[in-house]
Amino acid sequence: MGRSKRSDGSNLSSEALDTLRSSIKGKVIVKGQSPEEEYRPLLERWSRMHIKEANIIVLPESEEDISSTIKFVAEHNLDVAIASGRHTFSGSSSGYGLIIDMRNLRKVSVDAEKSIAVAQGGSLAVDIEAAAEAVGLRPVMGAVNITGCGGITTGGGIGNLSAQYGLVADNLLAARVALADGSIVVASDEENQDLFWGIRGGGSNFGLVTEFTYKLHQADPLVYFGIFMFPPDKIDASLELVNTMHQDYVMKSNGKFACFGFSVIMGGNPVPAFLIWYDGPEEEGKKYIQPLLDLGPIYPGSGAEMKRHTETTDWKQFEKMSPPQFSRFVGTSTQISYPISVDILKRTVQMFKEVVATHPENLSASKLIYDLRDFSKVASVPLDATAYANRREGCLIYVEFSWDKEELDKEMMQVIKDFIAQVRAWIKEDNEQKGIADVGAHVAATTLYALISDGDEKLVSVFGPNLGRMKELKKKYDPSVMWDKWYPVDPEV
Ligand SMILES: Cc1cc2nc3c(=O)[nH]c(=O)nc-3n(C[C@H](O)[C@H](O)[C@H](O)COP(=O)(O)OP(=O)(O)OC[C@H]3O[C@@H](n4cnc5c(N)ncnc54)[C@H](O)[C@@H]3O)c2cc1C
Repeated sequence: MGRSKRSDGSNLSSEALDTLRSSIKGKVIVKGQSPEEEYRPLLERWSRMHIKEANIIVLPESEEDISSTIKFVAEHNLDVAIASGRHTFSGSSSGYGLIIDMRNLRKVSVDAEKSIAVAQGGSLAVDIEAAAEAVGLRPVMGAVNITGCGGITTGGGIGNLSAQYGLVADNLLAARVALADGSIVVASDEENQDLFWGIRGGGSNFGLVTEFTYKLHQADPLVYFGIFMFPPDKIDASLELVNTMHQDYVMKSNGKFACFGFSVIMGGNPVPAFLIWYDGPEEEGKKYIQPLLDLGPIYPGSGAEMKRHTETTDWKQFEKMSPPQFSRFVGTSTQISYPISVDILKRTVQMFKEVVATHPENLSASKLIYDLRDFSKVASVPLDATAYANRREGCLIYVEFSWDKEELDKEMMQVIKDFIAQVRAWIKEDNEQKGIADVGAHVAATTLYALISDGDEKLVSVFGPNLGRMKELKKKYDPSVMWDKWYPVDPEV
């Protein structure tokens, strides 16, 4: 069947909209008809660059509402997007047609004896973490708790517990999925195994997940956690430390020590920082941060202490680095092998500094991040076991530009593409010089972390060798390409 042009719903008759309203319990908000104060706040999202004035926003209250809404979308051939935590980097949860906005479906129930959590499809990480922590358990979720489980699970999902337990998606036991015809099916190792394969890394290509069932893990509620910031003159020394932090500390911690390096720009200069997280007591955790203490002096106010795990993912503490006025974001990623070429990092930081200098006031909250965590557990799962294709050991480099002026949107979309293309070219050249064909357990794994990308990458960069199977499943579960917002696979192309 393949992809066809979909309607934005602006020409729907009032009878059609009334039919939708009467078929569901939740609200139907229509642009230009519903009060502005009700409509406009629903468009808000983490990256305001991706605000699109949708014609219809549906706020389902139940799985039945979702099913009826999807049938309506299919009947009228509407453009549709799913919005949960609204934290996409690529804009994949907004659109001009109909939005299925999952914000009212955030109920989580935990079975402490079985160590499982059942979360409605609009739940945020904070909902699941809080419910689990209340009974001494932890889910695998991302490093901050305000993202939706919908996006992070279907896209793969890396958290500080991933070194011990794998991806967020690797901890998914089952899901209920609303398909393009409005039917609801279970996907698990027992039922619809192909769909279960696809929703773990294939994003929203196959349907809307109405409910996720996760494996939880026994854990002490407290971890040793903190952010260390250093003066600008420590930037080179901080980059020289990344291999040590990874090889001698992260990789010798049995998955308990997670570490990120950061470069942010202050007063026009790159300033180094490290975020650390240790799953154990302070006395043990301190051993893992000795190189950071030696790198000092540390900025006053930065450092580590024992915190509840849920506090470590609390977004508030990161707001200092991401002030709310810089609310337009682009982000992307690539991966570099260990030992990392410090020369490449230095060139990358220099280029980052130059980009920020083009609009110093606007881009001052931008970040360059080196993810030094242990990905061996993620890479130990066979590449064809799920749709997720970045099962590779190596350091993920994330770059995020943020600003506040709409006029910069177009320019920054291009800047980030050029930026990451240059970093990838340096990495390729370096690999060739060192004779590194590839790293990690699976030579065909991708080097992109697709959840942190601009939405314009090639499908093969996202799904790697799993692209063929993605196409087969798309033909089976969504032949008309209704779900077309996050790296949609077209079965006919
Ligand atoms: C500040 C910040 C921190 C982040 N930290 C991490 C991190 O530590 N680890 C990590 O792995 N990623 C991280 N990410 C990336 C994040 O996982 C993705 O942006 C993710 O898509 C966000 O999901 P969401 O539900 O909040 O987003 P939304 O914008 O609501 O949705 C994103 C995508 O998911 C789809 N989707 C949402 N809900 C469902 C559902 N119920 N069923 C099917 N599809 C659905 C949407 O269709 C859309 O394509 C971070 C992002 C931000 C902005």
